Amino acid sequence: MDGRVAEVRRWVDEAERIVVLTGAGISTDSGIPDFRGPKGVWTRNPGAERAATLQHYLADDEVRRGAWRNRLEAPTWTAEPNPGHRAVVVLERRGKLLALVTQNIDELHQRAGTDPALVVELHGTAHRTVCWTCGDRRPMPEMLDRVRAGEDDPRCLVAADGQVCGGIIKSATISFGQQLVPQDVQRAEQAAASCDLLLAVGSTLSVVPAAYLVPIAKEAGARVVILNAEPTAYDHIADAVINGSISEVLPELVGADPQL
Ligand code: NAD
Repeated sequence: MDGRVAEVRRWVDEAERIVVLTGAGISTDSGIPDFRGPKGVWTRNPGAERAATLQHYLADDEVRRGAWRNRLEAPTWTAEPNPGHRAVVVLERRGKLLALVTQNIDELHQRAGTDPALVVELHGTAHRTVCWTCGDRRPMPEMLDRVRAGEDDPRCLVAADGQVCGGIIKSATISFGQQLVPQDVQRAEQAAASCDLLLAVGSTLSVVPAAYLVPIAKEAGARVVILNAEPTAYDHIADAVINGSISEVLPELVGADPQL
């Protein structure tokens, strides 16, 4: 075991209240590409960022049609958790996981077995849809079935007082330009301020307010460990930075069974 990995492993053993902050990098080994990594969706196709911006999604029906076509093909629906997701479950079993704050929208942490009550999905979930007009929420597969059946920009069918809503449907994720859910941000910040170790995994730490959890934890006196393939925006304040593969290194850091 590499010396730094062994040292962080000792910090994990000593810690009593760990917050894990995850980004898209923890799910790439499940076949879901990240946005900004070397093979990221936006690195390859900068135009894709438009569909993730609320203002464009709401104003431009061509952006919505393209987004629905892409959703049909998304790897998210068939992806399975990988050893990185399962390693976080080990921390919970060891009684050390205070909270798992994720920027991911794929629900793979819950599928791996993390207690949903410990998960803060800062950027929402792709597995549900929301009507922008009436707020009606539904499982995503219901809408994908309608798209497959020929609706290229499905609208809300909720009826009230003899009128069909007709609102724009989007995935229940937080797009750029959209406000995060204040209670989620508050829960995440409180957890970061009261942990004794923050593990930031698979994120460039360039999206705020998620990235702010790192300085919040540091200022509150916690140890900060960053595990990512490439440099991040907060490497300079971390107690340890490990550049490596998440599905290989994270199980070692948490003391997981090698068969994980
Ligand atoms: P990001 O795309 O900005 O950065 C991901 C980082 O992970 C990169 O630095 C990359 O080098 C690293 N990485 C990728 N695979 C790795 C691996 N196997 N081992 C180690 N490092 C690896 O991700 P972000 O900071 O989460 O920001 C992206 C935004 O996009 C988030 O807000 C998130 O909501 C959304 N997003 C989510 C998913 C998902 O749910 N799986 C996928 C793509 C984007």
